[in-house]
Amino acid sequence: MTENSELTASFTELYGRAPEGIWAAPGRVNLIGEYTDFNDGFVMPLALPHTARAAVARRADGELRLHSTDVPGGVVRLRIDELAPQQGHGWAAYPAGVVWALREAGHPVTGADIQLTSTVPTGAGLSSSAALEVVTAFALNDLFELGLSAQELAVLGQRAENAFVGVPCGIMDQMASACCTEGHALHLDTRDLTMRQVPFDLAAGGLRLLVVDTQVKHALGDGAYAERRAGCEAGAAALGVRTLREVPYDSLGAALDTLAGSGVDESVVRYVRHVVSDNQRVEQVMALLDAGDVRAAGPVLDAGHASLRDDLRVSCPELDLVVSAAVAAGALGARMTGGGFGGSAIVLVEEEQADMVAKSVLEAFAAAGHATPRIFPAVPSAGARRLG
Ligand code: ADP
Ligand code: MG
Repeated sequence: MTENSELTASFTELYGRAPEGIWAAPGRVNLIGEYTDFNDGFVMPLALPHTARAAVARRADGELRLHSTDVPGGVVRLRIDELAPQQGHGWAAYPAGVVWALREAGHPVTGADIQLTSTVPTGAGLSSSAALEVVTAFALNDLFELGLSAQELAVLGQRAENAFVGVPCGIMDQMASACCTEGHALHLDTRDLTMRQVPFDLAAGGLRLLVVDTQVKHALGDGAYAERRAGCEAGAAALGVRTLREVPYDSLGAALDTLAGSGVDESVVRYVRHVVSDNQRVEQVMALLDAGDVRAAGPVLDAGHASLRDDLRVSCPELDLVVSAAVAAGALGARMTGGGFGGSAIVLVEEEQADMVAKSVLEAFAAAGHATPRIFPAVPSAGARRLG
């Protein structure tokens, strides 16, 4: 981890002058509501203490210079008026995409020198990519005095990832990184981006939320997102609704009967059951958090995992093993989080049982011959901000 003073020093060494400021944007875990954000549904992420940080100074000459302390290689130099979607650029496409999206939206960004560093594990389903986009967007918004809101910056970050990088992600990750607050989970309605900070004080309740990063990524996941997305769209079309958000929870059974009789693939029936029931689980968890009954959210997390495993079929043996081992060892609940096919799971556990449950997960992984997962507590942390 590079400290702020180190980041300033490395910026100065790279670019021959001091940065104008330092910004941070966190990674996230999603407590509940998976594959719902492209269905206009609900999600409930929380920000991690892990952040991407950026030291930035403006340029007036139309050059964008990008460097990350976390990847080998020198400074990437781009002309901002030559930026265009899906040109490649590797990791640099994430921050460059933000500059492109800002300029596309008519904002007067004239160039920048940027030095990035991040403690968000990459490719672990913890949104290191959104952290990179959001920290870049916040920095440029401040330096060029664009006056954009956190929500507007999140939307521009998503546009950078969708259109410029070419990854069809929903809006959850960028909104979580931009808008979460310490000690809260963020209830987000992805239809209109209305949000609510839901108090989520784990320590006060004697609880811990563990993140288990399995450190695996199965190739199977590559086309799966697009396939699930298309299946959900087919389900909505067969039901005559714009998105699956429109299906009321209490008419899910009837909707599934309609689908089964409509000739759609049986996978579509499963996808619809997952999305509609997971939306309802978000509402259930929010009500439990509001009532101060965080423990009772455990079985809802378990049900969410079963739905992702059996209906959406985006889990994998390693994620299933985290959940089964943790629950067998006495966890209150557990589920995979993020896109699945590897990445991370979350485990809700009594504080005094946390070490024992973590040990049980490690032992189960060793016994199964899987690589050792990385386990750390998710402390609900602040969203993007200026540090100096
Ligand atoms: P996730 O967002 O779940 O971590 P993604 O595949 O969406 O996974 O994004 C990971 C990519 O983001 C990396 O492959 C890299 O291109 C980029 N990235 C993330 N963090 C950094 C970093 N600190 N420096 C450079 N690139 C990064
Ligand atoms: Mg990502």
